[in-house]
Amino acid sequence: MNIVLLGYPGSGKGTQAKTLSVAFSLFHVSTGDIFREAMAAKTPLGLEAAGYISAGKLVPDALVLEVIKERLRNETGGVLFDGFPRTVEQARALDSYFSSAGRRIDAVVFLDVEEESVVSRLGARRTCRKCGKIYNLLTSRPANEGSCDSCGGELVLRDDDSPSVIRNRIKVYKAQTEPLAEYYKAAGNFYPVKGGGSPEAVAAEIAAVIKGKVGR
Ligand code: AMP
Repeated sequence: MNIVLLGYPGSGKGTQAKTLSVAFSLFHVSTGDIFREAMAAKTPLGLEAAGYISAGKLVPDALVLEVIKERLRNETGGVLFDGFPRTVEQARALDSYFSSAGRRIDAVVFLDVEEESVVSRLGARRTCRKCGKIYNLLTSRPANEGSCDSCGGELVLRDDDSPSVIRNRIKVYKAQTEPLAEYYKAAGNFYPVKGGGSPEAVAAEIAAVIKGKVGR
């Protein structure tokens, strides 16, 4: 079972991916997390990606695809993609990479949230610097403001969650990522799910889609 989570920045992909990868024993691949780790470690990949990310632009496809191939090299189990693919070119490359290995994307789950809600969702997002756990100051607050419930790490606002960068990320999403919906609808594996509810309610809806696929 290989799943793609698609949706606006701030639609809840990261939160859902963390829960669902555990529930369904899927290998969680978040290209955003990979780039952030590389930036924190100041590796060549991180240094190259940083300029694009801080401007709210997409990292070039060639670099993203290199990262994905490297991450999947030894992975033969089911994968949950979060934040990848983000362009039709990435989706095509993933399809051909998978089909050469006799694999396919079973379901593309689209987390449908209102565009207007994205800015406030991202502005209220806080991420643990240590373990990556995601909070929202409006809907899923930590017990102690500023520190992670799980590991006590510092909670921070991501640099690219500032209002001006958010606006650019939304523009980029519409221009480059939204066309993926048509791509996957044509492929017959596109499943829209209403986002924006409680994380538990959204997770239950996605789980129903995944279980439906397993039962087929
Ligand atoms: P995310 O955490 O998924 O919101 O990703 C943070 C940033 O990393 C994005 O705004 C992009 O600049 C970059 N990024 C992550 N995944 C991709 C991807 N698949 N293609 C291009 N850029 C990406």
